[in-house]
Amino acid sequence: MSRQSVTLTLPDWINDVVDWQRRYQHDDEKMALAIELSRQNVLRGTGGPFGSAIFDCDSGKLLSVGVNRVMPLHNSSAHGEMVAIMLAEQALQSFSLNADGVKRELFTSCEPCAMCLGGTLWSGVKRLVCAATAEDARAIGFDEGPVFEPSYQYLRDAGVEVVRQVQRSAAAQVLKDYLNHGGTIYNG
Ligand SMILES: [Zn+2]
Repeated sequence: MSRQSVTLTLPDWINDVVDWQRRYQHDDEKMALAIELSRQNVLRGTGGPFGSAIFDCDSGKLLSVGVNRVMPLHNSSAHGEMVAIMLAEQALQSFSLNADGVKRELFTSCEPCAMCLGGTLWSGVKRLVCAATAEDARAIGFDEGPVFEPSYQYLRDAGVEVVRQVQRSAAAQVLKDYLNHGGTIYNG
């Protein structure tokens, strides 16, 4: 057990579900991927019911994906959004996802918690698109932490477009399925 490094990994099945060559043109297909990742993460028992993906806004190129890995990796920071952000930054070898002038967007199957909303701001993405609401997450027992409407306005004022409730019901269903199949609600 190293005291000098930490490792984040995606589950082995990711490449069976993700088509890395595809160009994702519309919000609906981008969100469908984020939700499918959340669904597969539940079905395959590899973490909590949350999935995310980061795209180049204009080309529709997929840069990274993330799923919740909190329990398998013993890492309270390994939320889907943070995993996707860290992998995207690693892929670009940059701490900012707009340093090269390319606009990027984060799609997430559920509205971000306090940590991930902050992480979204620091990542440099220019667009945040969410499916299920914080209320949907709370309804099954997850705590989203101190996220308020002014938090979203802060991102907007910083130049991040925020779009919410895209395919909300499909994403909320994954949350319910997780609960109904006995998934652990941590930090509840
Ligand atoms: Zn989070």
